[in-house]
Amino acid sequence: MPELPEVQAHAERLTDAFGGAELERFTPLSFSVLKTVEPRPDDAVGSALAAVRRRGKLLLLDFGALTFVVHLMQGGRLVPDEAQSAKPRNGLARWRFSDGRALLLTEAGRERKAGVWVVAGDPLTQPPLEDLGVDADVVSHDQLAMVLRARNQRLHGFLRDQHGVAGLGRMLANEICHRAKLSPFAMTAKLSDDEVDRLAAAITACIADALAHERTLDKMSKSADRPGAVHRRKGAICPVCGDSVRAVEYNAYEVDYCPTCQTGGKVLADNTTSKFLK
Ligand SMILES: [Zn+2]
Repeated sequence: MPELPEVQAHAERLTDAFGGAELERFTPLSFSVLKTVEPRPDDAVGSALAAVRRRGKLLLLDFGALTFVVHLMQGGRLVPDEAQSAKPRNGLARWRFSDGRALLLTEAGRERKAGVWVVAGDPLTQPPLEDLGVDADVVSHDQLAMVLRARNQRLHGFLRDQHGVAGLGRMLANEICHRAKLSPFAMTAKLSDDEVDRLAAAITACIADALAHERTLDKMSKSADRPGAVHRRKGAICPVCGDSVRAVEYNAYEVDYCPTCQTGGKVLADNTTSKFLK
């Protein structure tokens, strides 16, 4: 799943390529992709794309009075549509511009979860963006300390939950916990001041590294190609201390961590294995 750095760099590329282009037509290609009824997408026809922005992990196509908010979810991508075929493979929606170019929202796999919201006025105060936490790339140390204490979740879950801070997913949650030398299962309200300091610094550094990498590319990276220390590196050597990276596996994701760096050497029970042992 693309996270804040991937979506941010992609928004910048799309603004560079399509900024100023005038919308000729918006076409939903799947009956479930458009999540709003009012305002009508056609109300943006004739308006220029001011910019493509990002909030959390979502893209905002800003046409002035109207904004198209695009949630890519797991497998969604918003890409230049060179072929503009009548039935594009995995196509969910198309924005065609009066200069003849187009953008296509695609979604790989069978799940149809990616969606488009058309919003009039300030999109940040309306669904699907209104209840997101502060963006992780701009959250202040004090804001972070406040939401950590207010929510009291496991740290890994807190980082993935978009309501405390927004923009992080499975990979950055793993990398940030490792960089901060914190257990992914630490309770957020119990973190000491020093631990909150380390967490804030790790969030900033991990996002900066990922964004710098992503900005060198001409399209969004695949998750397997993103550089990292622990994410999906179970059994590999921790680049910081030389211990082996361990994983706690769940159905949809895994929590990857280094025992020496993060849990005082303690190896956490593997979730799938321990079910059989019970
Ligand atoms: Zn380590």
